[in-house]
Formats: sequence, C-alpha cells, structure tokens
Amino acid sequence: MQSTDTEFLIPTSVDEALQAIAKEDSIYLGGGTSTALLYKTRLIEPSRVVWLGKLTELQGITISSSEISIGAMTSVAEIAGNLEIARLLPGLSAAAGVIGNARVRAMATLGGAIAHADPRQDIPPALIAVDARVSLRSTSSAREVSLAQFYKGFLETVLGPDELITKVVIPVISARRSAYLRFAPTSEGDYPTVGVGSSLTFADDGKTINAARVVLCGVGATPIISSRAAEALVGTTADESALRSAALFARDAVNPQDDERGTAQYKTDMSEVFAYRCLKLCVGN
Ligand SMILES: Cc1cc2nc3c(=O)[nH]c(=O)nc-3n(C[C@H](O)[C@H](O)[C@H](O)COP(=O)(O)OP(=O)(O)OC[C@H]3O[C@@H](n4cnc5c(N)ncnc54)[C@H](O)[C@@H]3O)c2cc1C
Repeated sequence: MQSTDTEFLIPTSVDEALQAIAKEDSIYLGGGTSTALLYKTRLIEPSRVVWLGKLTELQGITISSSEISIGAMTSVAEIAGNLEIARLLPGLSAAAGVIGNARVRAMATLGGAIAHADPRQDIPPALIAVDARVSLRSTSSAREVSLAQFYKGFLETVLGPDELITKVVIPVISARRSAYLRFAPTSEGDYPTVGVGSSLTFADDGKTINAARVVLCGVGATPIISSRAAEALVGTTADESALRSAALFARDAVNPQDDERGTAQYKTDMSEVFAYRCLKLCVGN
C-alpha cells in the first residue's frame, strides 16, 4: 500500500533544503512533471518531498561576457522564451521550445530536466553540445561537473542522494554556433525518436572549424557524444562531405532499442539523417 504519511517540506533557503534532504528516502521536487507520474504509478514512495519552488537563489538567467548561468529552478518556458538565450544558444532555445506542451514547459525546471536522466530528454544533448557544467551542492561539498560526464546509465547520474543541482553554466564563445533538432513521430508533445544537439566553433578565418560536438538523445541509455563525428568536422570548412561523414559517424555511435517510437534500425537511420540536418542548421545559425 502506498504510504500516506509523506512529508512535504518547502524550504526557503538552499541550506534549509540541503538539511531537509538528509532524511532517508527524501527527494527534491522541481516542477513535478516527471516525479508526479512516478509517484502516481508507485514507482517511488518517498518519505519526504522537498519542494524547491521558494528558492529564489535557484531561479533566473544571468548573462555576462564570459558565461551564461541558469538557475536550476528556472522553468523550461522561461528558457525557451528568453531572447538572449535564443541569440547566444539557439540549440538550447530550440530544445526547450519543443518539450512536451505549453503546460509541461511552464512547470518543468532546468534542474529536473537534467536530473531525471531519461535518455530521450531534449535539453541534455543541447547543453552538452555547448560544454555546459552543472553546479552541485550538499551539506558537505560543492562541486562542478561537466554535463558530458554527468550521465551514467538509464535514469542514472553522478548525483549523490543528498546533492542539489543549483545551476548550469555555459561558456560564451562568440565563434561558436549551435543547433538542436529532433524527430517526434507520434505527436509534437511527445518524446523524440531521436534528437541531435550540435555545435561548431570557427577559427579566426571564420571558415575553418576548430572544435565540434555532436550529441544524440533517444538512441541509447544516456545522451551519446560522437567524438568521431567531431573529429570528422575539425579542420574542415563544414563542407558537404565533412557534414555527411560526421553524420555517418554519429550513426555508428548510437545503440537504440525497438519501441513505439521506431525500430532500432529505423532510429539508427534517423540518427544519421538528423545529425546531418542538425549540422546543416548549425552552419546556418
Ligand atoms: C506530458 C509530458 C510530455 C513530456 N515531453 C517531453 C519532451 O518532449 N521532451 C523532454 O525532454 N521531456 C519531456 N517531458 C519530461 C519533462 O521534460 C521532464 O518531466 C521535466 O523536464 C522534469 O522537470 P521537473 O522540474 O518537472 O522535474 P521533477 O519532476 O520535479 O523532478 C525530476 C527529477 O529530478 C530531481 N530534481 C529536480 N530538481 C532537482 C535539483 N535542482 N537538484 C537535484 N535533483 C533535482 C527530482 O528529485 C526528480 O528525481 C515530458 C513530460 C510530460 C509530463
């Protein structure tokens, strides 16, 4: 039988939240869009729920000349609607704008979108493509982890049970272009069959690529970074043959499973198509 005595706490400071999570079987709650389903289907039965909604320290977007900092409790809708994010990080803006539907985007938070670790989620590949780092705090430590190193397996991350995501930091690189593109066959409000986040950083000549990232979601247990796709792009001018060969390498990197969004073979084929299209977009961004 489901426990009826779950405590619901609303801390008003990060320190209070960190203390509150120390009780065994406690969980943090952001917008609740994933947690509510897990709770309703009894996949989780926490003894305490710590809602982060009153922590103003975790809210909002700050942009300086060197970095963009987004608080963990910033809603996906706020990210999607921010014009500076659209200008500086078009990939993240696009990923935030396609999640679920307007109601989900209004409630879902950046922290939840990262911590939930469903490999089909749109935001992680868009953020990994631009070298995002995640700030984590517990009562005993504060650390920063590259989002590229954050995911360990299906619904599994490096987050300790008492760790809180406080913010995500993305370096501002003026010579970098980024994009996110996904294919969602069932409805626009659903998880994608495959999603691709990419970035290309151009050398001083404005033509030669000196850094690249291609990251796929929905086609493995975690977001997949194709380092060979990146290698195929560096040193080129993002010409047609470089984009085609990077897309082929992206295809080689995936490890999808059959499900209602497509067979493994179909997802593999679509990974190549969408990696190519995403890189094309990136060149144009
Ligand atoms: C109808 C529907 C459609 C959806 N479609 C999409 C889609 O198309 N693409 C997509 O990517 N996603 C989709 N989602 C999933 C949605 O993006 C996630 O549910 C959402 O991003 C999670 O954010 P949240 O704030 O609601 O997380 P919550 O449900 O509050 O939390 C999720 C997990 O993160 C943990 N957590 C939350 N905040 C923190 C923090 N600051 N520090 C540490 N841990 C934290 C919680 O403890 C929990 O384990 C959909 C969801 C629904 C319900």
